Amino acid sequence: MGIENDDVRRVRDSTDMVKLISQHLQLRKVGRRWTGLCPFHNEKSPSFSVNAEEGLYYCFGCQKSGDAITFVREIEHLDFVGAVEYLAGKAGVQLRYTSNNEGKDRRRRSQLTDTVEAAVEWYHQRLLKAPDAKGARGYLRSRGFDGDLVRQYRVGWAPDDWDVLAANLKAPRDLFVEAGLGFVNRRGRLQDHFRGRVLFPIFDVNNAAVGFGGRILPPDFGGGEGPKYKNSGESSVYNKSRLLYGLNWSKDEIVREKSSIICEGYTDVIGFAQAGMNRAVATCGTALTEDHVKMLKRFAPKIVLAFDADAAGQNAAERIYEWERKYEIDVAVAALPEGVDPADLAREDPEALGAAVEHAQPFLKFRLARTLAASDMASVEGRARAAQRAVDVVREHPVAMVRDQYLMQIADQCQVSPERLRALLAAPPVNLPEERPTRRRDDGWSDREPPPEAAPARMADNTETQLLRLAVHEPESIPAYIHGALFAYPQNRAIFEALVEAEELHQAIEQASAHVAPLLSQLAVQDEPDGEAETLIGQFLYDAARHELRRLQAAGRNRARQSAEVSVSESGGDTAVQGATDSADSSVEGSGVTPGNPSAAHGTADLAASIRGLQAEIPRVLEAAFKLDAAERLLPWLPVGAG
Ligand SMILES: [Zn+2]
Repeated sequence: MGIENDDVRRVRDSTDMVKLISQHLQLRKVGRRWTGLCPFHNEKSPSFSVNAEEGLYYCFGCQKSGDAITFVREIEHLDFVGAVEYLAGKAGVQLRYTSNNEGKDRRRRSQLTDTVEAAVEWYHQRLLKAPDAKGARGYLRSRGFDGDLVRQYRVGWAPDDWDVLAANLKAPRDLFVEAGLGFVNRRGRLQDHFRGRVLFPIFDVNNAAVGFGGRILPPDFGGGEGPKYKNSGESSVYNKSRLLYGLNWSKDEIVREKSSIICEGYTDVIGFAQAGMNRAVATCGTALTEDHVKMLKRFAPKIVLAFDADAAGQNAAERIYEWERKYEIDVAVAALPEGVDPADLAREDPEALGAAVEHAQPFLKFRLARTLAASDMASVEGRARAAQRAVDVVREHPVAMVRDQYLMQIADQCQVSPERLRALLAAPPVNLPEERPTRRRDDGWSDREPPPEAAPARMADNTETQLLRLAVHEPESIPAYIHGALFAYPQNRAIFEALVEAEELHQAIEQASAHVAPLLSQLAVQDEPDGEAETLIGQFLYDAARHELRRLQAAGRNRARQSAEVSVSESGGDTAVQGATDSADSSVEGSGVTPGNPSAAHGTADLAASIRGLQAEIPRVLEAAFKLDAAERLLPWLPVGAG
């Protein structure tokens, strides 16, 4: 197997199973066993059980079982040798390899990646500190990269010089060249591969540094000549058709979310992570290959393309359908506005980026929508042409059943009979010239209403989110009467309910929907809110009361409008409820009065009484500077009473 059996045994014996697993889940001692929530399946009560003496685990929920090595293989996505090496490193066990060659290959590989790693660090320090990196720092700032982000992704700067890296790194010449960092020039001198470029270090799936993607600076930042992008040359550690930038960081979330996102640039990957979607990867200077797809399939069966896959044309489409069939994956396309890349969208409108991914369409559906959007659907002739083009698109799909389903949709949209379309499908393609959509930038989905489920990737900092942070860090300071229904935003309500329904935070994250779980993690890494908990709760009740007041006022107007309609009155409908003249706007959700509310079952008089009550009480909370006892007097008026 590559490693001496004795060594494998020693690695097993010297691994503390509880400590190892505790890095991934919370274990509690129950009798002689340890139990916790299984890391391999979603569960509410612990069924993952560990026998520390034997170094074995078993899950009663999903039946996964094994020892320290299997655990590391599963959780770190490593092969057997990789997992043993990982554990040996932690336990300080020196490994001996059975086959000399294999051992040598591995040793050489780690020498190469160590050399690249040293270069990563040197280039990174150069970017942070050197005067000649000023232009690069300015450029990165203009692209939204602050110091923290630069450090997180270890962005570097290759000076505009021949051999600075070679001279400073002092690596053996053969290693330096084989690692793709440089070459020997005609005068026999070692020369750097990169010069005058911002460098994004690329790591393999196990976090070993293997190469760089380099971008030249734009002229305004002092950029020189040369192709815009240049990557490390192919080497035994850098194989572009099998490398995906960002997979080392994103693999866990890809597994958890059961889907990956593929984009085209390093900054796109970083943009997605900044927008809260840490499951994006990018190809490194090449189109998507079958090897990439195979690799991603190991982690999740769904792939979302966050680039204009359609622009690559029919060839791309054929390959994608082929991969879908061969590897049983689903490929969808994120609905990005035309001409906007994910990195820009992540900065300008992270919510829109999240929505684009969430509402990604199956590849064929996306191609069809695009074809139809580019057609004139108002005239008979236009619809006929659209139908022909759409049928040509559908023809590319290899599965008859799928083709037929889409034909029905086209028939519907183009007002053509399905039989007619089936006949078209059977005939050879006509290949009408494609009408490219001439959409304005804001003519896509961005000017539509945001979809109801679209979550902001990054939560705003307001009273509600501060209260959520308090609930995460100091659950005991949240009074029992604080209830999900008091939150104005459905998303915050869902987060709060996930928190109170779980025994502890990790469980809440486990149990929460895919939508809420990352937001909980986000709250968990933030600090507790500043200031007094009681003041914050007072402020929260105050906001909830104002929200409730607006809701009641809207309900009152609604009711007045209805009765005005019934009595065929020409009243504007805004006067029936006394005091209901506050500028309630359309942001108030649900204009009807809902059950559970004091006014729900009662008449207009009670509604008006509630409004008056709130109107009287709310200013007192403000005067009392959100003191809790003042705020608690609002409770009888709120959707959830003092109980
Ligand atoms: Zn399990």
